[in-house]
This record gives sequence, structure tokens and C-alpha cells, in this order.
Amino acid sequence: RDWTESGLPQNILNLVNKVGYEDPSAVQRAAIPIALQSRDLIGVAVTGSGKTAAFLLPLLVYISTLPPLSSTNRQDGPYGLILAPTRELAQQIEGEAKKFADPLGFKTAVIVGGHAIEEQSYKMRDGVEIIIATPGRLLDCIERRVLVLSQCCYVIMDEADRMIDMGFEEPVNKILEALPVGNEKPDTDAAEDSEAMSRGRYRQTMMYTATMPAAVERIARKYLRRPAIVTI
Ligand code: AMP
Repeated sequence: RDWTESGLPQNILNLVNKVGYEDPSAVQRAAIPIALQSRDLIGVAVTGSGKTAAFLLPLLVYISTLPPLSSTNRQDGPYGLILAPTRELAQQIEGEAKKFADPLGFKTAVIVGGHAIEEQSYKMRDGVEIIIATPGRLLDCIERRVLVLSQCCYVIMDEADRMIDMGFEEPVNKILEALPVGNEKPDTDAAEDSEAMSRGRYRQTMMYTATMPAAVERIARKYLRRPAIVTI
């Protein structure tokens, strides 16, 4: 099966082609249509499965539906947040994101330990659509009010099990509590069909993990609403 069955819009398909991806991988085939329906999702998948594109491409579609960031209003954005366990993974995700975000005119910023907060916040002052961050440093930025996530309604936790292993359960919880409309998403089928579920109104939360230890399940239970589960 090819990319035309993914449900992605033509402009994104053109970029997928340009970037040179082969046919969609199993996780991409399964997860992209679900993410495009604004559903929460748990993806049980490892590195090399193509999971990064599986969550990035629907994020770019979502951002395309929102008002462009204005340079006059620095409070705009970010619209999407990706949490990763390590600086290396965050940078790797940004590399993959930039292949698509650059041609679409969307900006990305990485917020990780080891760089001065001032340096990273300078980049954010012009407005960025996508933040890719490790939990400790991101929470630091939120608590110091260097970063406001009031418009961030699309969140991905990548390698959630590794984030827990690295001791990030508490910052991950605090970050998710700080995000908008965290626990308001209605829990019924009726509500899911309704106008109220229209894109952007509620946070869409996705989690990718290789394993499902109790701590990861706790976070999923607390912050994901009726998630689809994709196991590769
Ligand atoms: P990931 O599992 O997300 O870390 O991706 C592993 C690598 O596969 C990355 O270098 C991607 O650029 C690449 N990749 C992702 N999707 C595809 C695809 N459909 N065809 C070929 N390469 C891909």
C-alpha cells in the first residue's frame, strides 16, 4: 500500500515524495489515519519503525489548519509539543521535522539541558510552531515563564518508557498538567461525534513507547482520552 491511502493532504504527500521515503511503514500505515482523526493514540513501536514520521506528518497537517504565527504577537504558538527522553533524540526528531517544516514555513525549536535557557528562549521569541524538548528543561522553562504553552493542543511523548527510566515521570506529569484543556475531553461516543470535538478544541495526546511498564500506563490513563492502540 502506498502513501495516497494515508489520508495526508497532497502538499504533504508531495513532500514525502521529495524527502524520498519509500512506501509507508507498518506504524505509519496504522497510526497516521488515526492521528488525522484527532484521536489520542498509544503507539507501541521501536526506533527504526518510522514512528517519528508517523507522529510528525499529522502534526504538520494540524498546524496547517491554524492561523500563521505573527511576528507582532509573540504569545502565538507553539502549536505542537514533542517530548523526548534525551537531547540526542530531541535533536534527531528536529532533523526529521525540519525536512517537512522548513518547506512548509514552520519553525522548530529544541529545548534541552546543556544550553543556556536564554539562548533557547531567544529563538522562541520570534514564535515557533513546534517545540521538541526533554521534560526537565521544558518544565524549567514553563516554571520560569520563558515559555507559555497555552496554545499547544497537540502533544507527543516519544519513547515514554525511556522518559520514565530516566526519572522524568514527575516533570512529564507537571508538563501535561500545565497544558491547555488537559482533562476536559469528554469520554463518550456521542461527544466524540459532536461539533465540540472539532480540531483544536481539545488537546490531542499521543504516546509512543517500546514497552508498557506500570508508570507508562499510569500516564496514559491520566492524560490520554480513549486512545487507539497501535502495536507493531
Ligand atoms: P524512526 O523509526 O522514526 O526513527 O525512523 C527511522 C528512519 O527511517 C529515519 O531515518 C527516517 O527518515 C526513515 N523513514 C521513515 N519513514 C520511512 C519510509 N516510509 N521509507 C523510508 N524511510 C523512512
